[in-house]
Amino acid sequence: MKFEKPHLPYSTEALAPVISRSTIEYHYGKHESAYIDNLNHLIDETVYERMSLEDIIRSSEGALFNNASQAWNHIFYFFQLSDKGRRHPSGKLAEQILLQFNSFDELMSRIEDAGMKIFGSGWVWLSADADGTLFITQSSNAHNPLKDGLTPILTIDVWEHAYYLDYQNRRSEYLSKIWDIIDWEIIESRYE
Ligand code: MN
Repeated sequence: MKFEKPHLPYSTEALAPVISRSTIEYHYGKHESAYIDNLNHLIDETVYERMSLEDIIRSSEGALFNNASQAWNHIFYFFQLSDKGRRHPSGKLAEQILLQFNSFDELMSRIEDAGMKIFGSGWVWLSADADGTLFITQSSNAHNPLKDGLTPILTIDVWEHAYYLDYQNRRSEYLSKIWDIIDWEIIESRYE
């Protein structure tokens, strides 16, 4: 067991009603545990055993990539959420958002739109390059911007398992409500 699932810094009820206790129990409980179990099984007695999770993501393909990336993506997703925290960006990140998107509302609207346009399962991302320029990108399945040389700072899971228990097929409602539980202090710490 090289990789272990970190405990969430909030209770399973903390994000309700945006994300219910059932969704956290299935999504971070069962789905994420399965990705980490598969990952540990696939790296057992291989060179990957000595690599960081990020290096496995950058250097693998197929089943190993899919499980490594999903393991990482879910930790990244759940650890940016909080029932507390700050609900808007500040500092350098806020300045960059204004420069590129004119307003925070416009950034949120573009991220929601990108999330709606992902066909099937995937992730919508806000990432930065080495100069701090921001990018909104879409991933199918497990794909991760680390593969493209970008630094992810925010992600929204749009696989149906992320929202179906709470919103059924209403992905747009899930995307519009998730802003109420994103902690921009955490997003900013990833941007610096
Ligand atoms: Mn998921």
